[in-house]
Amino acid sequence: MATAIALEDIFWEHETGAYHPETSRRLTAISEKLEKTSYFSNLIRPKVSPASIEQIATIHAKEYVLKFKELVKMGSGHLDPDTPYSEKSFDAASIAAGSGISLVDSIISGESQNGLAIVRPPGHHAEKNHGMGFCMFNNIAIAARYVQSKGFPKVLIVDWDVHHGNGTESAFYEDDTVYFVSLHQYPFYPGSGNVNDKGSGKGLNYNLNVPMQSGTGDDLYLEKFKNQVLKEIDKFVPDFILISAGFDAHANDPLGGLELSTLMYEKMSNLLKQKAKEYCNGRLLSFLEGGYDLKALADSVEAHLSVLVSE
Ligand SMILES: [Zn+2]
Repeated sequence: MATAIALEDIFWEHETGAYHPETSRRLTAISEKLEKTSYFSNLIRPKVSPASIEQIATIHAKEYVLKFKELVKMGSGHLDPDTPYSEKSFDAASIAAGSGISLVDSIISGESQNGLAIVRPPGHHAEKNHGMGFCMFNNIAIAARYVQSKGFPKVLIVDWDVHHGNGTESAFYEDDTVYFVSLHQYPFYPGSGNVNDKGSGKGLNYNLNVPMQSGTGDDLYLEKFKNQVLKEIDKFVPDFILISAGFDAHANDPLGGLELSTLMYEKMSNLLKQKAKEYCNGRLLSFLEGGYDLKALADSVEAHLSVLVSE
């Protein structure tokens, strides 16, 4: 079964400055690694269009989207102290969100079984009314709504980035059709992700935070992954699985304080791919979020993708 990816030239034109960790060098490292694999030339590359304002507005306030579109015309600046943008950032962010939509189309048409959106800017910190934490539009949340619009009502999002996916949590906090699960270092940026935050209203018990102390390594992480995350998937029975695949919980990451090995990403990918087979006819789509050690990032992305392409 085929795997699709998106990795568009415009992502290199979202400039964040010489010293910012979220740099286009991340994508260069990933590309160089993937180009050496035996499977790279067999990956499906669907044509990607920018997400429309209406598609982005399924998650974000239209005023924010339009304001950001105008802002970049005046040159570079910051959405928040961590989140610089350049003239091409609106286009890059729209195509990052559009990548998810194209890959969802590829998967539900049967052209591919699963996929990986190798995008920047990342998305999981982006809130309804503002970008933050290197993120502009919440790519995975926009994809979740798009999946639902195509007739797959129950969407599971697993976020294994080292940081809590606050933007994705807020988008679906009162929603029982999108189950958001985040494993993250805690306490840590952005401050949210408390174990007691379980959703509210109809969404109560459809939001799971699995906080990890600084220094947590593979064994404890995997135990919590199996005992908490996999069990909830069995209860929820999703139609589609989305992954916020940040790789900054890797032991070598300069920002994160967790101690995962590259192999851990292979293990988690296998476990989620198995659940996708069990419940979703294999439908699974990942989004690149963080990951700031170039070698650890490239190796971990390759470990993840090699599981997606394997039979
Ligand atoms: Zn992160």
